[in-house]
Amino acid sequence: MSRRLPDSVRQFVAERAAHRCEYCRVHQEYLFLPFQIDHIASLKHGGGDEPENLAYACPHCNQFKGTDLSTFLESYQDIVALFNPRIHIWVEHFLVDHGEILPKSRIGEATIKTLHLNDPERLIHRRLLMEDGLYP
Ligand SMILES: [Zn+2]
Repeated sequence: MSRRLPDSVRQFVAERAAHRCEYCRVHQEYLFLPFQIDHIASLKHGGGDEPENLAYACPHCNQFKGTDLSTFLESYQDIVALFNPRIHIWVEHFLVDHGEILPKSRIGEATIKTLHLNDPERLIHRRLLMEDGLYP
């Protein structure tokens, strides 16, 4: 969830992420909606405004993530943490196959599910970007 942060902080977070969503990896230039600053751990969960708790996110990922930090995975019958861009490495948890983001770990699976990373419209969008060499 986003609240107003100083422009300098927003700029730092965007540049650290190379202006890509830290969850789905789409570049801000290829989405017609402004990107947001995600509080990885929301205020509700004790998170603050320090850069270690912030991630650059497209509005889709940020909206679906909300204040969630984990989800229940039926396949594991367990609660699994979501991907945290500050402590996890993206390629260790996900891979991209024809635009589809596939899990390489439980964390990847939990995040794909919760953030709806492969909703049809998002998948089509990434495939089009891939055809033009703009993703990932
Ligand atoms: Zn995203």
